[in-house]
Amino acid sequence: AGSKASVADLPMLAKRSMPLCMSNMHTKLVETHHLKHKARNQFGLFLKGIGLTVEESYQVWRSNFTKDPAMNAEKWQKEYAYGIRYNYGLEGKRTNWTPHSCQRIIMEPGTNAASGEHHGCPFKTFDEVQLRAQLQQMGVAGTEANFILDKARGQHYQVACGKYFEAKHKGTTLIETEISGISHPNQYFEKSNEFYE
Ligand code: SF4
Repeated sequence: AGSKASVADLPMLAKRSMPLCMSNMHTKLVETHHLKHKARNQFGLFLKGIGLTVEESYQVWRSNFTKDPAMNAEKWQKEYAYGIRYNYGLEGKRTNWTPHSCQRIIMEPGTNAASGEHHGCPFKTFDEVQLRAQLQQMGVAGTEANFILDKARGQHYQVACGKYFEAKHKGTTLIETEISGISHPNQYFEKSNEFYE
């Protein structure tokens, strides 16, 4: 459902309509010109899920990676194009891989921002200081931030994410009250786009 995202809109969409896991990876991609394998997988499949074509995905990854002086288009093509084609089912087993659910992202081990691993669910992987700062940066503070931090502390990450959605989409209540919160990053994204339609 919803309209197809475009490459040019990604920075706006990251701020407005992506859940924290994806906006975090987008920020890290833009800032560091790199993402490691698991993050490439999670964010890459998410981008596929929001409607980017394989060519558009190339464009996003290549344009960011090649801002690193040690990377050029040719090297990028050799090292990273395969992974993107793989995600789109154009290589290897030719499986039409689907974007990961929250449950899968939450269970994925090995997140460690200090060593450049930015995959995973921030409501789980961020410490409290970092999470509060991140929420504030996204315009979520006060009682809403406290509620979210409380849910994260209690390991109710998807409910925390639902509250985050509500805080960023004023007047909505449907997510957090739906028993277990957000179930899929692409569901979050689509609900957000519906809100702005
Ligand atoms: Fe992403 Fe799901 Fe975590 Fe929300 S609950 S930040 S959508 S993994």
